[in-house]
Amino acid sequence: MSYLAKNYNRKNIAFKYGKGSYLYATNGKKYLDFVSGIAVNSLGHSHPKLINALKKQSKKIWHISNAFQIPEGEKLAKKLCKKTFADYVIFQNSGAEATEAAIKVARRYFYSIGKPHKYEILCVKNSFHGRTIAAIFASGSKKMTEGFGPKLPGFTTFVFGDHKALKKKINKKTAAIMVEPIMGEGGIKEIPVWCLQELRKLCNKKKILLILDEVQCGISRSGDFFAFEKSKIKPDIVPIAKGIGGGFPIGAVLMNKKVASGMIPGTHGSTFGGNPLAMVVGNAVMDVVSSKRFLKNVKTLSKYFLSSLNNLKDKYPKIIKEIRGRGLLIGIQLKKDQTKFIEKLMDNGLLTIRAGENVIRILPPLNVKKKELDLALKIINQVCKKFN
Ligand SMILES: *Cc1c(COP(=O)(O)O)cnc(C)c1O
Repeated sequence: MSYLAKNYNRKNIAFKYGKGSYLYATNGKKYLDFVSGIAVNSLGHSHPKLINALKKQSKKIWHISNAFQIPEGEKLAKKLCKKTFADYVIFQNSGAEATEAAIKVARRYFYSIGKPHKYEILCVKNSFHGRTIAAIFASGSKKMTEGFGPKLPGFTTFVFGDHKALKKKINKKTAAIMVEPIMGEGGIKEIPVWCLQELRKLCNKKKILLILDEVQCGISRSGDFFAFEKSKIKPDIVPIAKGIGGGFPIGAVLMNKKVASGMIPGTHGSTFGGNPLAMVVGNAVMDVVSSKRFLKNVKTLSKYFLSSLNNLKDKYPKIIKEIRGRGLLIGIQLKKDQTKFIEKLMDNGLLTIRAGENVIRILPPLNVKKKELDLALKIINQVCKKFN
């Protein structure tokens, strides 16, 4: 029997070790890992640069309180700011903590300028921002909030794409709009460029903040360092996590100078956030995934993979409804429930994960090889044939 609580629906499989895009299971089988810990293992498993960074630091200092200077964190924060819109960073340990911190930064900003009545955060219904009390009420999903007490005030939702409702819900209390540029859990749904641009204009006009949750779609996953970059806009606050640690738990909230002004000493903190072990790994990931050449390769692989998947869609119109996504954040939307399909892919050696709207989410490591994409395509084709 298992002494772990039953809050996960785990598959009956465990792994001995991983190398690159592959996982080696205790059952003796080898799997192509296109889950990547849900967009976490951005450089696959056992990447030598990450192992070295962790090994070296583990012999020096594991943990230091944020009461002291942490040079490794200074270094990563500088890289993140030089690469993006941001002026300041606060490190956390997970995505939900990063979105929580984003909400706190937005509210604290309005408090600090004498507008404490502005605290409401406007979000997309059934989006995903994590599992803390604030984050579940931000998403407004019945499934996630049911049984967890009274509805937390300060959050309002609108339906994805319902621009009228969005505008109607902005009022005197509104502090920020928080959206995922590409909805991950919700089914790989992308906010179009023009729409992000309109969102920015709307926030400017209403003097509210724009929070873009890049926890899943960020850190080069989309083929750009941040998914919103294509729109050329600048958000005010961006929570990140998943991909930046390459498997080491790291979260962070990035912000501009204006909103950072509210975060004076004592307003936020985290015991573990930004500890040296995490920071050296984050620096190593950042150095690899943020280079122009790396991003160009993600785009090239993506173009090939997406067009091949679209060919499969044309070949199996009864099974595949739509191919979604950008970069290596990809969804195959089926016409029916995807559970059995995902199981069959796994039986054939390909690990994928579900998302909303009957979508099979495919998240290869960002350094995946073309021949590994080809193997995945072969397996997907085989399973399509079986279900056809
Ligand atoms: C995964 C995710 C989160 C939450 O991250 P955790 O590390 O699981 O807390 C928040 N926002 C988005 C968009 C995510 O995909």
